[in-house]
Amino acid sequence: MIRVAEALSHILGDVQPLGLEKVHILNALGRVIGENIHASRDIPPKDNSAMDGYAIRAVDSLEAGPTNPVRLRIVEDIPAGSVPRKTIGPGEAARIMTGAPLPVGADAIVRMEDTTRDGEWVTISAPSRAGHDIRMAGEDVKGGDVVIPKGELLRPAEIGMMATLGRSFIYVHQRPVVAVISTGDELVDIDEEPSPWKIINSNGYSNMSQVADCGAIPIYIGIARDKKEDLAEKFNAALRADVIVSSGGVSLGDYDFVKDVIQEPGNRMHFWQVAMRPGKPLVYGRVHGKPFFGLPGNPVSSMVSFEQFVRPALLKMMGHVNLYRQTIRVILGEDIAKTPGLTHFVRACVDWHDGRYRIVTTGDQGSGILKSMVKANGLIVLPEDATAVRKGDEVTVQLIDHSLCMTSEPQYL
Ligand code: AMP
Ligand code: MG
Repeated sequence: MIRVAEALSHILGDVQPLGLEKVHILNALGRVIGENIHASRDIPPKDNSAMDGYAIRAVDSLEAGPTNPVRLRIVEDIPAGSVPRKTIGPGEAARIMTGAPLPVGADAIVRMEDTTRDGEWVTISAPSRAGHDIRMAGEDVKGGDVVIPKGELLRPAEIGMMATLGRSFIYVHQRPVVAVISTGDELVDIDEEPSPWKIINSNGYSNMSQVADCGAIPIYIGIARDKKEDLAEKFNAALRADVIVSSGGVSLGDYDFVKDVIQEPGNRMHFWQVAMRPGKPLVYGRVHGKPFFGLPGNPVSSMVSFEQFVRPALLKMMGHVNLYRQTIRVILGEDIAKTPGLTHFVRACVDWHDGRYRIVTTGDQGSGILKSMVKANGLIVLPEDATAVRKGDEVTVQLIDHSLCMTSEPQYL
């Protein structure tokens, strides 16, 4: 049996980021970029107006005020997207729209609201400083700069930036295809009629959703019966994937054959059993060279082990550097029993109430009680050496979804 930290570092040492693929930026959201994105030119490319108004020489407006209006002659109109043809000389102005390039000679903008137009003349009632309301060429991005470095996570802002730079196709890390296998003679599939002594395969679906939640691609191999031949056949079918995840068949039961299959020629078992609860009988190894996670069968165990080990591994394969869930420290409102020697992951619900976090465990912590996961948004992590923890103790809570980032009421109004 190995410790949680050892198991995690072994797995993360064993998997590597996948290669790159070229995708359109609209398919790049949430992916990790595999190249440096350079700016091929300044953004904005030219000095341009930040307001609708008049482009002028600032010196001409120095004396302007409500009681001392200055009159300038309008030499041309410059809508956005057009090229100025005239030079602005003393006593002259060009009508200009937001985003239009600044004409030669002009060095300031007077806003529309500080002017009145009369035919080809404009009257200015406020002074404007040089550079006022002008967006300078390159003020957003300088040509040649690395704007998005390799390894960044692509969010809508990065997608917009790449569009600004004229990059429609880019290289990102591939997403692993993950084959999901459920094992057990007691299982039927979701749309089959379960007889009273059969149960519906839920792990297949929770595990596939966990794969998708990481941004990886799940494929469903189905249910393997508790026979070595059937397991071997399903593992074979799973070889088209980059990673194989199974659940069940890794304990000490007479029909738990996953470990045996993983020890056959061509496969390799790296370790079995991690000092944790739930999730102790985890197997990690390689099946014909593909990383293999043999998760325990109990629905909570399979999800918690996925969360601790499979998720960071898939994120690493997709090129992410932030592989771990955020944790917070919270004061317990109840006692929790604990077995020394095992890291416990206790399902709990955390919320933010009256300026502090509040936490309650989600009831029966049996590894078959899937409802304890349904109600949870966090896992209280009780370290291996801890004995009981008591009401009032401060504990570490791993947040397993984004629920604490969202609220039902606007918090800023
Ligand atoms: P095992 O480790 O194979 O003995 O599985 C332990 C228990 O987990 C079984 O008795 C089932 O009740 C449950 N179980 C195993 N696989 C699944 C599955 N795919 N979906 C739901 N429950 C499962
Ligand atoms: Mg089983």
